Order: sequence, then structure tokens, then C-alpha cells
Amino acid sequence: MASNKKVASLLEKKRLISKEIEDLQSMCEHKNKIIKSTKENEASPNTVIRRICEDCDRIVGMPTQHEIYEFLDGTR
Ligand SMILES: [Zn+2]
Repeated sequence: MASNKKVASLLEKKRLISKEIEDLQSMCEHKNKIIKSTKENEASPNTVIRRICEDCDRIVGMPTQHEIYEFLDGTR
């Protein structure tokens, strides 16, 4: 745990928020899937193209080659 009290309290809040997001994502039926470029994880500087649930922002799968092509075509 961070020794800076402000940081420690923010980290605790972040943990609770992440838990709440996880709970919402686990209840979501992921009906609206879109192809989007996103960070592989929060700390990663790299973006990747993934199939994402539009409702809860969870990565729900890998896009097909065709979907990647269509996504890239749309961003040009
Ligand atoms: Zn979802």
C-alpha cells in the first residue's frame, strides 16, 4: 500500500470502482458488440483492435480479419 495517504485513499477508491465496473460487466449480456481500438490494459501504451461490448466497454473477443479490414477502412 502507498505511504502517501492521498494516494492510498485514491487507490482504494480505484479498487472499489474497478470492482463495481466488473460487477456491471458480469451482469451485462453484451448484446451490442462493436469493433474498436482500445488499450490492451490500463497500463499499456499500445492500442489493439478488439471486439468490445458497446454497453459495458468490456473486451468480448477478437475481431475477424474481415472485421479488422472494415474497421480500418472506416477510419480512413
Ligand atoms: Zn457488455
